[in-house]
Amino acid sequence: MLKYLLASVALLVATPLAAQPAAAPELVTVIHAGTLIDKPGTAPRRNSSVIVRGRTIAEVRDGFVDVPGARVVDLRSATVLPGLIDSHVHLRGLDDRLRARLEENQRDNEDNAYTALSNARKTLLAGFTTVRDLGGDPRLILSLRDGINAGEIPGPTIIGAGRGISVSGGHGDARNGVNRELATLPSGGNTCNGADDCRRAVREQVGAGADVIKFAATGGVLSNVPGGLNQQMMDDEMRAIVQTAKMFDRKVAAHAHGVNGVNAALRAGVDSIEHGTFTNEESFRLYKQTGAYYVPTLLAPAAALADGVRGALTPAQFEKAKAAAGNAEKSFAEAIKRGVKIAFGTDTGVSPHGRNAEEFALMVKNGMSPALAIRSATVDAAELLGLSARIGTIEPGKDADFIAVDGDPTQNVRLLERVGFVMKSGRVHKLGGARQLTSAD
Ligand SMILES: [Zn+2]
Repeated sequence: MLKYLLASVALLVATPLAAQPAAAPELVTVIHAGTLIDKPGTAPRRNSSVIVRGRTIAEVRDGFVDVPGARVVDLRSATVLPGLIDSHVHLRGLDDRLRARLEENQRDNEDNAYTALSNARKTLLAGFTTVRDLGGDPRLILSLRDGINAGEIPGPTIIGAGRGISVSGGHGDARNGVNRELATLPSGGNTCNGADDCRRAVREQVGAGADVIKFAATGGVLSNVPGGLNQQMMDDEMRAIVQTAKMFDRKVAAHAHGVNGVNAALRAGVDSIEHGTFTNEESFRLYKQTGAYYVPTLLAPAAALADGVRGALTPAQFEKAKAAAGNAEKSFAEAIKRGVKIAFGTDTGVSPHGRNAEEFALMVKNGMSPALAIRSATVDAAELLGLSARIGTIEPGKDADFIAVDGDPTQNVRLLERVGFVMKSGRVHKLGGARQLTSAD
């Protein structure tokens, strides 16, 4: 986050100091929107114009106004809304589970980096202008983040966790279930054991450039260990992680499936529960009491179960996939009734990149209104990411991140699976459903 801000400031400062006598005039774009969902969750505006200067929204006006010299984007027959936010993705590496397993020992970090580049582009073209990457190789994701911020690579704004933190044998320990030779290699994860060691793990990720801290409170579906989905990190380890992260001004996301782990992570003071597959009365009381967000990731258990059925998972993974898929939607439906704060997140990487918007249909099927589902992927996710001042609504001063669809997504949320227009930071990446190449592509 700080790096991003500094990069933006550097760009602004660099222009007047550059050698050319006159800086290029700032590109002005006027978007004519037939329907404008400027603040999701409130009534949309009709026939409006959004005026974009450079990377930023300058004005929102009634009617279709013209600005001399401005480029006009005609979306008079479409619905324009803020760029979508996915609070839980993994951009690094292959999203085809079987291929990933087959190629595991042939791929280097460079291979995964180029795949991440392609995944980032697919994500942006699907209408997601911001994502939170909750675990991968820290240098890889944080380099990608910085390249996108500098305008060198097309992709969403990334809030990166670096490596997820886990106990040994837990969800983030890359040595789980590998052969003897591989098990002697240094851990590919960031494991910690004991409160002191967990403080170290947080500090290392902050040092590596992480914007947010992610840890695994419980077992996970895709780790190759038959250890179940219950709490695996001790209460004092979680408290140490949260306390250390807060000292560095970082939010904390907890991966948690089993109810004892969900509740322990909420008690430790995390900002969000990822997955939250099993819940009870105490969970709902704690969500309310702490104000933590629930990031449901309903696409993930469905995708993992399908992978298991087609033989792409190990026996240990398949057992856990069945358990998670059997309860994830029930917990979500209950959370809707209880008014738990929900931020949109998919765990894409478990499911294929570029199909993040398929999560909306699962949310609506399980009791959320389309309007609130859209709010969860804009206003609410922006709040969880600590980016409300920059994204989530269409208001002057915010980043010029928009999408458009044909028709009314508050009636048919699946329209968001077919985004026709994408602008990010004032640059058009998709128009009329087709990718727009720019000099940075
Ligand atoms: Zn994940």
